[in-house]
Amino acid sequence: MVEKILEIQNLTVSFDDFKALNNLNFSMDIGELRVIIGPNGAGKTTFLDVITGKVQPTTGKVLFKGKSLTKMPENKIASIGIGRKFQTPRVYLNLTVRENLDLIINRHKGIIPTLFRKVPVAEVRSVAGLLEIIGLIGKANIKAAFLSHGEKQRLEIGMLVAQSPDLLLIDEPVAGLTDEETENIGSILLNLAASHSVIVIEHDMEFVRQIAKKVTVLHQGSVLCEGTMDEVQNDPRVIEVYLGISD
Ligand code: ADP
Ligand code: MG
Repeated sequence: MVEKILEIQNLTVSFDDFKALNNLNFSMDIGELRVIIGPNGAGKTTFLDVITGKVQPTTGKVLFKGKSLTKMPENKIASIGIGRKFQTPRVYLNLTVRENLDLIINRHKGIIPTLFRKVPVAEVRSVAGLLEIIGLIGKANIKAAFLSHGEKQRLEIGMLVAQSPDLLLIDEPVAGLTDEETENIGSILLNLAASHSVIVIEHDMEFVRQIAKKVTVLHQGSVLCEGTMDEVQNDPRVIEVYLGISD
């Protein structure tokens, strides 16, 4: 049996009377790259909020490598190998690209391996290696404030990878980017998928097509369907949901 990086069972998240997630079931293999799509309000961001411990399930549970994350605080969840990139870049604008990466690496070097888990030495990322992954070698000594939006997104992906997470959660990485930058981010994510498990939430269908092998469609807090991009795009239920026709 292939080991699961993530298993979500009967997950419901209620805000007062409203169920942002409604009896959701989801499972993902180690090393998989999964794209999650769905109309606005489908529950995509809440889904990530539950995995990272920002929001607690009302019922149901989340298992990471077989271990329940229920009641685990956010920083503990991060320390056992789940990293998240938010929609807006959160880089230090007055530091250079290199300094931003250095900061994260040094912050994590001492803490993670000794206290929480063993990260093989080869896995502890070097700044040079990260700069190469994100394609910013030539901009290493430039302050982040002077990067384009797309370059900032790439830097933040680098800062995420610097923490050596096993599972990367990435919320709408190409919103507002040029076509060229969108493609850059796509290649970076495909590269990272060779050595990480990755969940990407995205609206941009061309981008989804570029990177996706398996797509999960969320609708009203539940999984509507799963499959290849072609399968989900031709699924009448998905077409209905995206055209906003109610039944
Ligand atoms: P998506 O990311 O798919 O657009 P969200 O997960 O952000 O959807 O939101 C799903 C639904 O839950 C939305 O209707 C949203 O208004 C609602 N929601 C999200 N967070 C909260 C909250 N903290 N309190 C109340 N309602 C919320
Ligand atoms: Mg969202």
